[in-house]
Amino acid sequence: MRPVPGLGAAGLARIASAAVSTTQTLGYCDDHLHLLACAAARRSVDVQAAASVGELLDIVGHAVRSSASPRMRQDCQDSAEGNGGDSRQWLRVWGYDDSLLDERRHPTAAEVDAVTHGVPTVLHHVTGHVAVVNAAAGRALGLTSGEVLVERQDLLAAVPRDDRSATVAGVTEVLADLVAAGITACTDATHTNDIGALELLAEAAAGVPSVKVTAMVGADRLDSLEDLDFGETVLSSGGAADAGAVRVGHAKVMPPHDDDSAIADLVAAARAHRFPVAVHVMDIDTLQATLDALEAHPPPAGTATSEARRPMPDRTVPDRIEHCALALPEQLDRIARLGVAVVTQPSFVTRRAQKYREQLSPTEQAWLWPLASLLRRGIRVTLSSDAPTVPPDPAEWIEAATGRDIAPTERIDAETARRLCMEAGADR
Ligand SMILES: [Zn+2]
Repeated sequence: MRPVPGLGAAGLARIASAAVSTTQTLGYCDDHLHLLACAAARRSVDVQAAASVGELLDIVGHAVRSSASPRMRQDCQDSAEGNGGDSRQWLRVWGYDDSLLDERRHPTAAEVDAVTHGVPTVLHHVTGHVAVVNAAAGRALGLTSGEVLVERQDLLAAVPRDDRSATVAGVTEVLADLVAAGITACTDATHTNDIGALELLAEAAAGVPSVKVTAMVGADRLDSLEDLDFGETVLSSGGAADAGAVRVGHAKVMPPHDDDSAIADLVAAARAHRFPVAVHVMDIDTLQATLDALEAHPPPAGTATSEARRPMPDRTVPDRIEHCALALPEQLDRIARLGVAVVTQPSFVTRRAQKYREQLSPTEQAWLWPLASLLRRGIRVTLSSDAPTVPPDPAEWIEAATGRDIAPTERIDAETARRLCMEAGADR
């Protein structure tokens, strides 16, 4: 849908019903998820259900005592290609959220040490952005004492991983789950993606041809693509007949922690490669720096190529803001003026409602996860999961978008919500 400035609610409803009628043969699109992280989460000890640090430690301790799950025993036999060492001794845990635990904090390394008995252990936060490591894992990763809450992905990349074939099989399972949820297209928004990751995803996609996979590439990793452009297709190396394909998506800009000044440089790097950008934005300051960067470095015209799966030769593909968790009204006006799309996750506002009520003032809560106010301004919007953080389940996104309690004026009607989940609504 093209931006329609000043569109009222009645106009929105008309456009929604017209759009739905033309998209009946298409399925849902999860326009922001992380396929490799989903696959890794499936093969880790899952602590999402833990309500307290104590419960979390019970689950981790049980996993250690029972010599881990069958999948982890499988890892022991498949540890040939771990980058950084022997994966036999490692315990990988995923899915805690400090803001939802009773204690409202991360577990400490000492607490994890007490239940892991020297087994190198990494506890990944549900967002994947930080992890707690115990002393044995810290030593193996070369961390100095005190560095137990790790935010640097380059350090975490040294944790031994599954070998490539197990990873491809895991991603294929994740894609099959998407099909079961009615999803026929997805966008992998991982900022560490490079050509190697896209080739791996293409190999996995060969097993599930009914899902169209688009994968972003890290704005600092575009050189790895060599002569591949935005919108072109990466094929797996498995022969033409059963080759999987992945479309090259936006350049993903992940602002380094506490350094929004890097955003402009990353956007400029993407422009040098003629890529539209997708910027990770979770707060007001990052949004401000992002809007400044996008104004300073406008998108190149005609960023799609003739080989794109959905050719768009005569117009510029919009940049994207991912999440847009907190935004001032005047910032939404700037987003509309710049023609930037917003890819949002309605489930966050319902799943994190308790945290928001505790930590934010009523005024700030009114600025959380804008939705109706985006559409009112004619901003292009798609809904998504950010899986594995939230399940890739359009029914949940629609329920959250229509029934949220925080900032209820941001609710939208069910038909509009459904359209924003549809493949054609994504307009990628
Ligand atoms: Zn994400």
